[in-house]
Amino acid sequence: MHLVLIGPPGSGKGTQASRVALAWGAPHISTGDILRRAVASGSMLGDAVKDAMSRGELVSDEIMTDLVAERLADLDATSGFVLDGFPRTVDQALALDALMEERGPLAVVELSVPDDELVRRIGHRRVLEGRMDDNDAVVRERLAVYYRSTQPVIDFYKARRTLFTIDGNLPAEDVTERINLAVNPLVDLFVTQSKNASS
Ligand code: AMP
Repeated sequence: MHLVLIGPPGSGKGTQASRVALAWGAPHISTGDILRRAVASGSMLGDAVKDAMSRGELVSDEIMTDLVAERLADLDATSGFVLDGFPRTVDQALALDALMEERGPLAVVELSVPDDELVRRIGHRRVLEGRMDDNDAVVRERLAVYYRSTQPVIDFYKARRTLFTIDGNLPAEDVTERINLAVNPLVDLFVTQSKNASS
């Protein structure tokens, strides 16, 4: 099963993606984590992305699409994945469509959380994790970028009816349960179709 989790910074998409991935035995692919590791290791990729990241801006579509294409080609991602943080622009969503050809269906879940709650959670995360892009000015920029560039991605998937919007303000366990309830029928359908196709 292929799942994309979309949500503003602080919406809990990282937590939910890792829970769902664990339950499915599928890789949790967080583009933010991949980029943070690249910055920490001082690789060429890290050098290319660290300024944009520290300002709360998006890394270019070209870099991101190459990175995701490479990661989805890994063996562990052949039968499914949970993508966290990609796509963030409509161009990235189009690139993902191209990468999804000949794979199973793609489910898209949007986590919706009010802005004041996001700001509260990120303040908490700053204390716990010390992320370089969790300070007030950068958080405001990341939220603005989300509404400007990523909201259109939600509309893009909504137009195709593959989008599930889930209240990310509920307790984490309830959010996970709702994601499973939304996505499992698609998983069952896919398994039945694959069986029929091979028999
Ligand atoms: P995240 O951990 O998903 O909040 O990502 C942290 C930062 O990494 C973002 O603020 C962006 O600077 C960068 N980033 C992660 N994923 C993407 C993406 N799909 N497109 C562009 N930039 C990204």
